[in-house]
Amino acid sequence: MARRSSERDLNGRRQGFSANHAFSHMVTCECCGEHFRRLHWNNRGKKTIVWRCKTRLEDKTRCMARTVSEATLQEAFVEAINEMLGNSDEYLKKLESNLKTAIHLANPQSAEALAERMRQLQQELIDRTESGTNYDDLAEEILRLRELQEQTVMDDAAKAVHRERIQELLHFINSQPRTITEFDEALVKKLLESVKVCDLFLEFRFKSGVTISIEK
Ligand SMILES: [Zn+2]
Repeated sequence: MARRSSERDLNGRRQGFSANHAFSHMVTCECCGEHFRRLHWNNRGKKTIVWRCKTRLEDKTRCMARTVSEATLQEAFVEAINEMLGNSDEYLKKLESNLKTAIHLANPQSAEALAERMRQLQQELIDRTESGTNYDDLAEEILRLRELQEQTVMDDAAKAVHRERIQELLHFINSQPRTITEFDEALVKKLLESVKVCDLFLEFRFKSGVTISIEK
């Protein structure tokens, strides 16, 4: 892969795949679900950068997805951001309600309660071991709670990330002018989760959970 991306054409220019790009691993195919790959095209001296479905690259008969130029992808991204900024009241409302739900779900009390029950069970386990009483039922509950505990801890972390992303987008919307005019790679990295290439439109899914479709 490293060698491939540094291969040069007859004019000494780099060609082939390039991996380190804002949209890398984000563009997916509506038809087959595969990722799109970024390619340098040189068509009779006219150089363009395009994105094509990996399945289609490997076998044209297995996927009919269209090719999208990077310029189109960038334009559509700017439009999606502007759509969000232009309707920021509506999106802000949606985001704020997402945020409330996320906060409600990340209930720290449930983790606390679980930990407390776990302490009780472990004490009881020690007592029963000392008195030689059967403790199979206890061991079972402890195992079940431990699984639940791991789940809860993981969910809380995931929810914290989710909250952070929503807050980031809220902050972005509040700090921006009503529209942006230039494509900004940093915004992709910060806000975008994925792009789905569909026949008639591009679907931008933002990290905050907002989805915006742009006809392109
Ligand atoms: Zn495909």
